[in-house]
Amino acid sequence: MKLLVKAPAKINLSLDVLYKREDGFHELEMVMTTVDLADRVELELIKDDRIIIQSQTRFVPDDERNLAYKAAKILKDKFNINTGVSISIEKHIPVAAGLAGGSSDAAAVLRGMNKLWDLGLSIDELAKIGAEIGSDVSFCVYGGTALAKGRGEVITPLPPPPNCWVVLSKPSIGVSTGEVYEHLDVNTVNHPSTQSMVRAIHNGDYESMCNNLGNVLESVTLTRYPEVKNLKEDMKRFGADAVLMSGSGPTVFGLVQHDSRMQRLYNGLRGYCNQVYAVRILGKKNELL
Ligand code: ATP
Repeated sequence: MKLLVKAPAKINLSLDVLYKREDGFHELEMVMTTVDLADRVELELIKDDRIIIQSQTRFVPDDERNLAYKAAKILKDKFNINTGVSISIEKHIPVAAGLAGGSSDAAAVLRGMNKLWDLGLSIDELAKIGAEIGSDVSFCVYGGTALAKGRGEVITPLPPPPNCWVVLSKPSIGVSTGEVYEHLDVNTVNHPSTQSMVRAIHNGDYESMCNNLGNVLESVTLTRYPEVKNLKEDMKRFGADAVLMSGSGPTVFGLVQHDSRMQRLYNGLRGYCNQVYAVRILGKKNELL
């Protein structure tokens, strides 16, 4: 039996780090939304008691380090399943880009294996299991748009944001999330207003959404990687209404409403950047398969 599951990328419309907790994790407040750029995860039941990962992409591990492997393993262990699964991942989401590609693959495996192994888990139960794999996995189980708190696992769903194009551009550099958090000083940075972003989304107010885009991690990444800062400036020059870095970067996204502005921004960036995508926000939550 086979199943194909879509694993969409996420962007952060707002990302705030409130403080470092006693357990060493950071207390976060993020507004996230899924966009129409997705990996394709194909799941096939096998009789052997093992998990096989296939991915043709460089930098994506094909063993137990893959988050999709971890997702299958956690379900296998929790529910004493003694058959296996072959997981084939067709990557379209740039890797280590701040777009939660790995977390979304893991979430797709949780949703898909819930169906294939007939586990009968609710979406909330799957999201809870997802939190054991990584901080973005819970959100990726639900998809759509949400406010995420705690380490990212306390999810409050939000309505779809105002309709617009999201033009994503990833400079060809790697950014280590750990390194970015290490250099973040939560006491001196400007914090975005999560509440204002949530309000803008509830009100369907595009202008206010643009005005309230904010990511506290930009303070580190933009200083350490001037390429990202330059890219943000270029995007504004090419006509984006608002521009922000997603996650810890290095992907930057620009918002525009009109098709002609999207084309201008897209073409301008394509001139010198390999990885550029013009996508829509995915308003709807993921289906529980
Ligand atoms: P986030 O936005 O959640 O910080 P990211 O977009 O920065 O995530 P990912 O693309 O999820 O980063 O990958 C980060 C690292 O995780 C990669 O360098 C890779 O080695 C590892 N990894 C494990 N599983 C996967 C997967 N299924 N797809 C991509 N990378 C994976």
